[in-house]
Amino acid sequence: MTSCFSKTRRLINQTRRVLICTLLFFSVISQARAEVNIVTTIRPLQLIAEAVIQGHGSTASIIDPQQSPHHFSMSPSDRVALAQADIAIWVGPAFETYLTDFFAQTNLSEKSLTLIDIPGLRLHTIAEDQIDAHLWLDSSNAVRIAQAISTRVAALDPQNEVAYRDNLSRFEAGVDALNSELLQKFSRQPKAEYAVYHNAYQYFEKQFGLRHALFILQDPEQPPGIHEIIQLRQDFQNRAPSCLLSQTDASAELVNTVLNGHQLQSISIDLLASRVRADQDGYLQFMKNLADDFAACLYNDESLNALLNSKITLSGRGTSWLN
Ligand SMILES: [Zn+2]
Repeated sequence: MTSCFSKTRRLINQTRRVLICTLLFFSVISQARAEVNIVTTIRPLQLIAEAVIQGHGSTASIIDPQQSPHHFSMSPSDRVALAQADIAIWVGPAFETYLTDFFAQTNLSEKSLTLIDIPGLRLHTIAEDQIDAHLWLDSSNAVRIAQAISTRVAALDPQNEVAYRDNLSRFEAGVDALNSELLQKFSRQPKAEYAVYHNAYQYFEKQFGLRHALFILQDPEQPPGIHEIIQLRQDFQNRAPSCLLSQTDASAELVNTVLNGHQLQSISIDLLASRVRADQDGYLQFMKNLADDFAACLYNDESLNALLNSKITLSGRGTSWLN
């Protein structure tokens, strides 16, 4: 009788121990799960995600900012990173075409956040029925994206919901302050016309009332044909822009062919935020840099030239005089 009792008690104790262990194990797991892991395609999207989650998880982007997202092929490790993410953020099938099939898999479509589907975005087109995908260059879109990310992460990690909401408010206030600063910056009449290498900046340009005179490429995947090049040469001669906003992956050969001896200042834009640290203010810094590059092109100020010269020594590229 007693032996039977003690056996039962031992069993209860054992069960209790197992139960406590199991509970501990799952609480550790759920704590680990609370660290939200966000993977984005391009770095500017990572910067927006970082502004929301700061300190409560990790963010990463798969596309090297030195590379063109228009000619990107995913490596096996990119696939693993996206598959392991809690939230995978991309612009949409029109931009990251190589991801369309990947995200179509049912288990991935659930955790993907497709930016083009977020309601309330300010969208522009580049052709009839074709949305311009460079939507992260309008800071009001960045705010809408941050709001969507904050809703998603709060659902995954309700413990830190207040922190996410505070971070979002801070980001919104930062964007507001930057917008007023940039509207002021671009309120002066530009000194001369400017051209862009890749017609990728209309989100930024329209937000701040800017307009390029010419562009060389509409779609980086479709280089211009001989007739277009001849037309472009003519246009550059006629409009005589004083500055070209280019990018690191621009083809110097194409630029030189189009310019055909027309002299102008060329400024390389950091379109994918390669020079910006991924911290809570990363996106704001990215937009500030973009604005500085535009201002240098538009106003060609002494002070801005000094800034550009310092950029050359820092990064080994920046201003150059093309022939
Ligand atoms: Zn582009």
